[in-house]
Amino acid sequence: MGNYVQGNSYYNEHTVLYLNGQVVRAADAKIDLYSQSLHYGYAAFEGIRSYRTASGETRIFKAVEHYDRLRRSAELLHMPYTFQTDELIEATYEVLKQNNLQDAYIRPLVFAPANMTFNPNSASNICIQAWEMQPFLGDKLLRVMSSSYQRPNPKGFHIEAKASGHYVNSLLASQEAKAKGFDEALLLDMNGFVAEGPGANIFYEKDGQLYTPAIGNILPGITRATVLEICAAEGIAVTEKRISTSELKQADAAFFCGTAAEVIGFKSLDETIFPLQWKESLSHRIQQTYKAWVTENIKEPIS
Ligand code: PMP
Repeated sequence: MGNYVQGNSYYNEHTVLYLNGQVVRAADAKIDLYSQSLHYGYAAFEGIRSYRTASGETRIFKAVEHYDRLRRSAELLHMPYTFQTDELIEATYEVLKQNNLQDAYIRPLVFAPANMTFNPNSASNICIQAWEMQPFLGDKLLRVMSSSYQRPNPKGFHIEAKASGHYVNSLLASQEAKAKGFDEALLLDMNGFVAEGPGANIFYEKDGQLYTPAIGNILPGITRATVLEICAAEGIAVTEKRISTSELKQADAAFFCGTAAEVIGFKSLDETIFPLQWKESLSHRIQQTYKAWVTENIKEPIS
């Protein structure tokens, strides 16, 4: 094997992952350097979390929804997808068990075989990796910067697919924000309306109601859907609509939500501080409810 440049350490010599039907040692698993995925970003993935529930069990939150989205993403990219959601969920629990993980981040990836052309393939590979979850954006309120990068044009990409190549856009935006001393970026869509963060959806709160960008130019997040469920359960009004930056800057509070980020409040956007005390906001109540929901003792139905 050649000498790879060292990256962060997500695995050690004991770690296992799932690859095409088998649980194998991470250190032994290889990717073909001629893979179409590596060269063109042509792959579909998911970001899932498991939690240690109140009774001490391990539960993958919304596993069916995530694996259903993986299937949809692969299909939108014309990648063959022959995998069964129930088998993948079972395999994921096995990977967690063998790696001794409870609070974990789970990364399924559907990737292409060796192929330097632009032609479709007759089969796809799938791997499922998991590692211990570290705080993603942290727990403090975020200083957010309006990005100079827009989200990809939905006429050029299937923006609702979680496609690897789309994430170059996310990396550019996040790196720009951090280089300028902010915690995270907020990207607009091609029409100049608020879209989402590099890896999270956005909501804002104004006069006791919530607002979020309508779907169409964003990744429709599973956490976003959960926040909508929480609002329905708690009788909080939510409007999905087009949102301008100036409107957002007049909000009482705002937050990002995503599987990794969970629900995380904004301190400011471009140095405009959101006036409502976080602990007094509805957004904070939603954050607390989300934390409770993910660690409830409900076993996900395996469909
Ligand atoms: N938008 C983008 C661009 C993302 O990468 C993510 C993370 N998957 C989200 C939104 C939030 O999606 P989810 O709640 O399904 O994690």
